[in-house]
Amino acid sequence: IKYTTDVVVIGGGGAGLAAAVSAHQNGAEVILIEKMPRLGGNTVLAGGAFNAAGSPRQVAQGIEDSPEKHFTQTYEGGDELGNTDLIKVLTDNAYPTVEWLESLGMKFEDEVFTVLGGMWPRAHRPSSPLGTGFINTYEEYIKANEGIEILLDTEAEELIVDGDRVVGVKAKGLKGDVILHANNGVVIATGGFGASVEMRDQFNTNWPALTNIKTTNHPGATGDGIAMAEVVGANLVGMEHIQLLPMGDTKTGSLSGNIEKSVEDRIFVNKSGDRFVDEGARRDVMTNALMEQEDSFMWVVLDSKDYPTGDEKNNFNETMNELIAQGRAFKGDTLEELAEEIGVNPENLVKAVEEFNKAVEAGGSDAFGRTLFNAKIEKAPFYAGPRIPTVHHTMGGIEINTSAQVLDGAGNIIPGLYAAGEVTGGIHGSNRLGGNALADIAVFGRIAGESAATKK
Ligand code: ADP
Repeated sequence: IKYTTDVVVIGGGGAGLAAAVSAHQNGAEVILIEKMPRLGGNTVLAGGAFNAAGSPRQVAQGIEDSPEKHFTQTYEGGDELGNTDLIKVLTDNAYPTVEWLESLGMKFEDEVFTVLGGMWPRAHRPSSPLGTGFINTYEEYIKANEGIEILLDTEAEELIVDGDRVVGVKAKGLKGDVILHANNGVVIATGGFGASVEMRDQFNTNWPALTNIKTTNHPGATGDGIAMAEVVGANLVGMEHIQLLPMGDTKTGSLSGNIEKSVEDRIFVNKSGDRFVDEGARRDVMTNALMEQEDSFMWVVLDSKDYPTGDEKNNFNETMNELIAQGRAFKGDTLEELAEEIGVNPENLVKAVEEFNKAVEAGGSDAFGRTLFNAKIEKAPFYAGPRIPTVHHTMGGIEINTSAQVLDGAGNIIPGLYAAGEVTGGIHGSNRLGGNALADIAVFGRIAGESAATKK
């Protein structure tokens, strides 16, 4: 089958759908192809945290913040390896993009929070579970407006080039070859390569072998767009920077079952019941520390502030009581009882919580360097959930400029080719802050759609 349209988008996660909607808003007719039988990618599996500074929600909560602080934390949190021009676009446009999503009908909760490795309370929480709010919002727009066609089960295999310009995509659908011609441009939004053990092994230099580490990713996150772009000369940046979380489900590696609701409210203890790290630190720092504990295993411990009855949901749409019934979380009416339940030394656990509570009272920085505190862990019952390291995000990928145009090795624009989302590299440096991915994919997805529609 052959199609001709203005903009072809490859990938139906958050970045691709943002690009499709934005291209359409900028006057283009769009076809989006998605290799899986459904939209959503990794985006739909995400906890939902969307960092945006300078939000009226923060003002209402008395939280001081600014796009400049968000910029600095993003840059420093990635060891100053990120591209400052791209970071600035991200942090300046994050809140306007929340407003754009709201203009499309998306709902966010009133309170912002600090997500794991987010370093600051600027995460906006969608009212719908996980990443569904983003995907549903874009789908609603697509349903309500003519001019965006979605082809599922359609896997892009190569870019079509005419002279030096990318003019289309060759794909495979269920019924055979699909050739898509793009009058204006092609947007690559195929996500990262966290689910490709081969690519992880090929590029990983920062971690011990990742071959046997599980992932939070959906199975389609195999770096296809990176390979396709490379063939037409795209430059790749930061491919060695692979993000792990200390938050994997012990059986599947997924984020499901994670009982934490916000960084301030929980601690981590190892199999002895001892704390071992600043639980408000960077994701790489926490994961490295976890890997040094017995069996690379820890317990997330919190009290019932976030779960007054146990029927409240975690960030992954599961109630505490469900998790307990499934044996994926544990409960004790006292800390000693909880320690008994999870098989850690009760004295150590009690001491860990006591020390933490003292630090909450004292404020400032505790013995592990932790500075993010809210309230003491003291409200019975107490809960614990087991967690292990898991591959989560790939910071490296296709190099783009601030208009989401793809660059070659000499820094020249590859005409007709745009990229956005996890498939791109160079924004987050060596470590991406929690809550910055959903902001990144929406901000740059939106820009890529506009650039492609207007043939920038
Ligand atoms: P991002 O957060 O950057 O949007 P996601 O992982 O959410 O990344 O989405 C990427 C989407 O791209 C996934 O739904 C994935 O299945 C899809 N995808 C990956 N490779 C291809 C391909 N070769 N052709 C079409 N779709 C693809």
